[in-house]
Amino acid sequence: MSISLIGRTISESVTLKLNQTFVVLKAKGEPVIHLGGGEPKSKAPIEAITAAAAHLTSGEIRYAPVDGSIDMKKAVIRYTEAHYHRKVEVENVIATGGAKQALMVALQAILDPQDECIFVAPYWVSYPEMVKLCGAIPVAVTPEDGTFTPRLKDITQNVTSYTKCIIINSPNNPTGAVYPESFIKDIVEFCELKGIYLIMDDIYQLLTYNGKKPCNPFDYVKDFSDNNKLIIINGVSKGYAMTGFRIGWAVANTKLIYAMANIQGHQTSGPSILLQKAAIAAINGVQSNVASLRDTLENNRKVMIQQIKAFDGVHLIEPDGTFYAFVDFRAYEKDSTKLAKLLLDKVRVLTMPGIEFGLEGYLRLSFCGSIKDITEGIERIKWAVDPNSPNELYIGERKLVRDWN
Ligand code: PMP
Repeated sequence: MSISLIGRTISESVTLKLNQTFVVLKAKGEPVIHLGGGEPKSKAPIEAITAAAAHLTSGEIRYAPVDGSIDMKKAVIRYTEAHYHRKVEVENVIATGGAKQALMVALQAILDPQDECIFVAPYWVSYPEMVKLCGAIPVAVTPEDGTFTPRLKDITQNVTSYTKCIIINSPNNPTGAVYPESFIKDIVEFCELKGIYLIMDDIYQLLTYNGKKPCNPFDYVKDFSDNNKLIIINGVSKGYAMTGFRIGWAVANTKLIYAMANIQGHQTSGPSILLQKAAIAAINGVQSNVASLRDTLENNRKVMIQQIKAFDGVHLIEPDGTFYAFVDFRAYEKDSTKLAKLLLDKVRVLTMPGIEFGLEGYLRLSFCGSIKDITEGIERIKWAVDPNSPNELYIGERKLVRDWN
């Protein structure tokens, strides 16, 4: 059997694989705690559920336009006006199967083989693989000052004549960093000047804390013609707690949206009409679910930060958005895969190894679960890694004995 070059070189999604491991362990009755999750636990807005249910019971679930229904596009236009203060047209919008597909189709519409796409490390696990799926070259850039916040210089130093696009993700997965206004202004102006596509992955836009607000790239755009190369990616997965509905979108110039729609038309024919109905209702409905999810996560964040601060040796740059804390465990273990494996094997806590996000020695810990899971999970991690911990730990009835260093 021969497998294509792409088939051989694209790596598996470690985050999705570990989620699967959790499901298997849980089904076996293991007392496993998931601190690696990538989705809020709250329910989808009731309007979304009733809208989808009403359409489902009609029994007539048909093909939808490949770039999304008109009502879906109108909902995105409305969202864009509310959150970016920018009025766009239906031709500027495409609805997709989650933000992931919006990114993938955008990359396929702009990247030629050998083109380069820059993004900031640590980065979301799918960026390098998505770029490779286009036959193009991923270029990860690590901020020189050791923080999680890039400066324009970090990016420009890596720009070549092959650079076709730059992906910026703020609030950021995995660090929770919300990039400053000055950086967003710089990068928007730089990309406009150089004619480089700027992809803003705003999927965590609604989830910021501590008074921090995400920046609005439209504030710095000068040319709103079809030469404009700003691409906004967003969706209902995170802020509306609707990950499984798989509805996302992109907002961009009309020529690019047309090309993206043509690609999507041959790949999936676009997202399901049933799930678009749910997303439309969520976006157009009262936004109390978003507010209460944000408040819950803000409280979880506080608890997680407190716990980590009380943890000698580990270091954390506090997250201002998302539901992730990216914690420096190098004082205990430099190999994050080894550490994540130890934590899962010995104390049944699932974490995400930093190396998968392009930074070794760190673990991504999620605070989208329950307070109980956060506190107990971090207690178990502490017990596992700190050589000064007592020799024994009880998980329910189960007695654990420390037989490692
Ligand atoms: N971008 C980032 C940074 C993400 O973390 C995720 C989901 N984990 C996505 C995009 C994809 O979102 P969706 O589930 O809507 O496809």
